[in-house]
Amino acid sequence: MASLARTARTALRSSTLASTCRTATQQTQRSRTPHQATKSARCISTTAPSRKDPYMPDDIDTSSLHPTPITFFSETEVMLCESVSKFANEVIAPKVREMDEAEKIDPVIIEQLFEQGLMGFDIPEEYGGAGMNFTSAIRVDPSVSVMVDVHNTLVVTAILKYGTEESKRKWLPKLATNTLGSFCLSEPIPGSDAFALKTRATKTDSGYKISGSKMWITNSNEADFFIVFANLYPEKGYKGITAFVVDREMKGFSIAKKEKKLGIKASSTCVVNFDDVEVPRENLLGKEGEGYKYTIGLLNEGRIGIAAQMTGLALGAWENAARYVWNDRKQLGKLVGEFQGMQHQLAQAWTEIQAARSLVFNAARKKESGEDFVTDATMAKLYASQIAGKISSQAVEWMGGMGLVRDGIAEKMYRDSKIGAIYEGTSNIQLTTIAKALQKRYTY
Ligand SMILES: Cc1cc2nc3c(=O)[nH]c(=O)nc-3n(C[C@H](O)[C@H](O)[C@H](O)COP(=O)(O)OP(=O)(O)OC[C@H]3O[C@@H](n4cnc5c(N)ncnc54)[C@H](O)[C@@H]3O)c2cc1C
Repeated sequence: MASLARTARTALRSSTLASTCRTATQQTQRSRTPHQATKSARCISTTAPSRKDPYMPDDIDTSSLHPTPITFFSETEVMLCESVSKFANEVIAPKVREMDEAEKIDPVIIEQLFEQGLMGFDIPEEYGGAGMNFTSAIRVDPSVSVMVDVHNTLVVTAILKYGTEESKRKWLPKLATNTLGSFCLSEPIPGSDAFALKTRATKTDSGYKISGSKMWITNSNEADFFIVFANLYPEKGYKGITAFVVDREMKGFSIAKKEKKLGIKASSTCVVNFDDVEVPRENLLGKEGEGYKYTIGLLNEGRIGIAAQMTGLALGAWENAARYVWNDRKQLGKLVGEFQGMQHQLAQAWTEIQAARSLVFNAARKKESGEDFVTDATMAKLYASQIAGKISSQAVEWMGGMGLVRDGIAEKMYRDSKIGAIYEGTSNIQLTTIAKALQKRYTY
């Protein structure tokens, strides 16, 4: 199979600025009625005037273009979504239950994610990546999607934003093709208070030495490349936090306990130990003492990915139940989905999913356009994880006993939804961030 990202990228190059756009709904309609022409519109988001699309020639004035709904996708984005959905349905879906029971992602799937170019989304072509934009990011199974998300939004982005040219040339081609990344911030004691981290770094003749333990580290069981935050100058408090690149093969590095979890069971979450790990000078990422700034920036972006993951989960849970109640299950002589009590719940949930999608797309488009997206990403993550929890729970109920058994995916989606309110900042932390921004805006 040709790389999905590369195929889409080729199309992107040949598409014109005013190429046809479609909404996700129109896309679904098209697959049912191929002869229906898709509605034509400019593939520019509502943020067009200030959008800094790397593929848009500088001399094109976008100020006269009409704003378009944020749920419009460019031709390339639609193509990518269709290809990735196909890949997810044909390659990942058949293995989801097996991977959940085994609490392990099939290594073949990891290989294929790399082969398809999905692990180097934002990486420019010159470093061996797909060179796509942020909104093209994808959703698949929640366990697989968090692997893809952490790798792309936290690890790859960290190198792209803070790495030297030399480190980009050294690491990005590997991250795009065969090396899974992991992001090590949280620890046994500091969780939400992440900057109180206890892992220490000290200077040596050849570079640095890292000692301490990290906890809850996604991808750690399979990854070879770790971005690690340690405090180099504890006397400066959080201003001593520094980012390093650590290789799995380095002496003193070890993976300890693998957590057994309620949800996203196939995604590995481990304790990672650093026992005087010697890190060469060139593995310093960015500048000494700036690690706290990097984590803030990276997690702001990462939240859009988690919001997308939770929106996808809600949609998957809803669709699974909707198919059942509108096609399979009859009571009192009619399909259970025909009872008004059921229909209203399904309609309400659908509305909430669309609201979450709008928040996600808006945050992603604002990020792409270089605008301040922090509150938008925070609201998207908060709301998407709330509706994912609510709708996946309802979906279990809509399916009655069949929702609770492990033959289907309803119970798994419900279990998987819980993590959305915890990682990359708990819901309380998101609320605090939103409230702070609002207070600043409304304080005289
Ligand atoms: C499956 C999984 C994967 C993860 N992956 C990674 C990873 O790859 N890399 C990484 O670095 N970390 C990772 N994490 C860690 C994750 O980011 C933390 O779990 C999260 O930040 C919360 O920290 P905590 O678990 O210590 O909860 P705590 O901080 O102990 O919070 C407990 C409760 O107190 C509330 N609370 C805490 N502080 C406040 C406050 N100031 N105001 C109001 N309420 C508050 C919280 O909202 C929560 O309800 C992962 C966690 C899990 C469970």
